[in-house]
Amino acid sequence: MAKKTRKTIRTIPQDRTPIPEQAPADRIRNFEEVALGYREEDARNEAERCLLCPDPACVGACPVSIHIPGFIERITENDYRGAYDIIADANLLPAICGRVCPQEDQCECVCPVGDTLEPVAIGRLERWIGDLAIAEDWHNTPYIGPSGFKIGIVGSGPAGMACAADMAKAGCKVTIFEALHQPGGVLRYGIPEFRLPKKVIDAEIENLKRLGVEIECNTLIGRLFTLEQMLGEMGFHAIFIATGAGYPSFMGIEGESLHGVLSANELLTRCNLMGASEFPSHDTPLELGSHVAVIGAGNTAMDAMRVALRSGAEKVSCIYRRTRAESPAREEELHHAEQEGIEFHWLTAPAEILGDEAGRVRAMRCIRMELGEPDESGRRRPIPIEGSEYEFETQTVVYAIGTNANPIIGQTANLELDERGYIHTDESLATSMAGVYAGGDIVTGAATVILAMGAGRKAARSMKSYLGIRDSDVVYQAERRESEGKRFGIDLAERNFARVRVA
Ligand code: FAD
Ligand code: SF4
Repeated sequence: MAKKTRKTIRTIPQDRTPIPEQAPADRIRNFEEVALGYREEDARNEAERCLLCPDPACVGACPVSIHIPGFIERITENDYRGAYDIIADANLLPAICGRVCPQEDQCECVCPVGDTLEPVAIGRLERWIGDLAIAEDWHNTPYIGPSGFKIGIVGSGPAGMACAADMAKAGCKVTIFEALHQPGGVLRYGIPEFRLPKKVIDAEIENLKRLGVEIECNTLIGRLFTLEQMLGEMGFHAIFIATGAGYPSFMGIEGESLHGVLSANELLTRCNLMGASEFPSHDTPLELGSHVAVIGAGNTAMDAMRVALRSGAEKVSCIYRRTRAESPAREEELHHAEQEGIEFHWLTAPAEILGDEAGRVRAMRCIRMELGEPDESGRRRPIPIEGSEYEFETQTVVYAIGTNANPIIGQTANLELDERGYIHTDESLATSMAGVYAGGDIVTGAATVILAMGAGRKAARSMKSYLGIRDSDVVYQAERRESEGKRFGIDLAERNFARVRVA
């Protein structure tokens, strides 16, 4: 085979390949996807921009360590199935992660191409391969010998799914218990259709079921049965808790009990999970009124505002006490919201919500802010400007100022919690109850999909070690190093295999 010439920053395509998008004027009238995805020629062109670094920084920056240059090289070789196999070794949800991961803070921000040009669009390439796998019905379902262990997973978000996949691959009988009537966690009820279509979630969850994982919806652990019962009479050998942080925060100002005040999670759940956007064909009306004000400027606020716009609000405003520079939302989400005509009121905070005689929201009393010295978060502290209060007309107020731990497990099991109510774990993600592990947002607080998946995989390794199961992840790794060899038929790269005395 002819030796490949090493690529350099000068020889690669200089411009990052753009992703086609629905025009803002069209998309605010529908819930269809905004970013339409690469075509084959786009993906091939972008893949050529990867330098195939011998010591790739992007892999270390990926929370699930996808072998990024490996899959990108397969794209340049026309071996798309090979590219999928490499991604699927580490990531069960490529079409999801390719869409929603903040790659600009992870793999793409350490890519050396970005020192001179725009970094390789790793996320867009991952999405392209993930979508192709769905279209071509590719999946990897290995033969799995049963280990005899029964694993319970509480919560079907990305952390629970990632842990379930690894435990199923280790031969365990895995059941996921989900409180809601459909699986997926925030992927399903939080992130809107125009960023993450439900058919993509369904397809990737199908791969989990192919591994033998059972999902029991409408099952609220802590109410239907407790962790103690699961470990006792129900016969689970280990449990992973991945219940997320979906409990909304409010500010505690006057007027929060008025009709027309809701949390972003409620707005999004009504729309994404209960079909409010299709009212009256779904019996879940969303009475938003003509003007919706969303408090907060993170990713959840962007989603809530863009959903409100698509649900018929004439004007949607963002109320944020700092400036655009301090907004915690992804740049791409802010940009899309601005393109769609959301009004941003920076350096503004609500002081009171005002109602009419019928108990409905009619306005907010807001106060202007200025920025002082940085606070403990490193961002400049917002300080109210005396005498700057004014009335701001709105019919709906949506809170998107953060969330807290989902509390039920903590209230019903004898688990050590931290001072904020999140589950306390050690380094291996073991909780204070033997055999019970926890990870994702319920341990870290609200974070990201890929960090939750990384936690699920880490907990699976710890659970295998606890149960004395061979850590057979390596068996599924397409890019594994051949040099490690075998002893007694067992790959030496495997962890936790039975200790054999050789002398
Ligand atoms: P979750 O996804 O919250 O799943 C927890 C599941 O547990 C839920 O389905 C819940 O119903 C279930 N559950 C809770 N209690 C019980 C119980 N007692 N019994 C049974 N089931 C229970 N991250 C990104 O990376 N990119 C994004 O673009 C992005 N956008 C977001 C948009 C919104 C609106 C929100 C709210 C979050 C977003 N995030 C994003 C964050 C990301 O979705 C979360 O960090 C991630 O989903 C956490 O995963 P998890 O598995 O820990 O929990
Ligand atoms: Fe390719 Fe960038 Fe990863 Fe290097 S760091 S292998 S250039 S994606």
